[in-house]
Amino acid sequence: MQSEKDTKARLYSRYPLSNVLIYNGSTILHFLLGGIGIALGYSFSSWAGYTFSVLYLVFSFVEMYVVMPLTVCPNCLYYRAKDSLCVSGLNILSKKIAKKGDLKDFARRAEGLFCPNHLYLASLIIPILAMIPALIVNLSVALLLIFLAVVGLLLFRFFIIFPRIACLHCRAKYDCPQAGAMGVRNR
Ligand code: SF4
Repeated sequence: MQSEKDTKARLYSRYPLSNVLIYNGSTILHFLLGGIGIALGYSFSSWAGYTFSVLYLVFSFVEMYVVMPLTVCPNCLYYRAKDSLCVSGLNILSKKIAKKGDLKDFARRAEGLFCPNHLYLASLIIPILAMIPALIVNLSVALLLIFLAVVGLLLFRFFIIFPRIACLHCRAKYDCPQAGAMGVRNR
């Protein structure tokens, strides 16, 4: 009979490179396809498609690769654990650009309307919401395929990446509100 310890997921101080690549690869692909979809969907306007696309791309990349390492990562235990590598790899970047925060503040990432967690979710959902009206007024096979790909990436993130590749193995999962929401703390 397996002990409880054996049935619990392994926690990584250094995530395997494959997990880091899958996490960042799917994130960057999501943002890029979202930006392309917005540009294509509103291409009937001489300015709207490119303008909204660039605004979305700037928002999503800045939110993920600037706001997160400046505001969330300094309070995470991966920031201070020696030789650690979190699933996003952002603890390495954060150590270079931000001062160490306080572990007690880590859960604050989910507090407030414009908290980092909500901005992160917005960066994933905005292109989907933006493409729905575009599909109605400017339907094309390319736009439909991009829309389905972005929806697929969102589902992949929620049903595979968070519960199997990222949060399940995270040493911060006992303090992280997202891990709590994903129900992986006791797995
Ligand atoms: S539990 Fe998930 S969201 Fe929270 S710090 Fe770990 S990997 Fe990131």
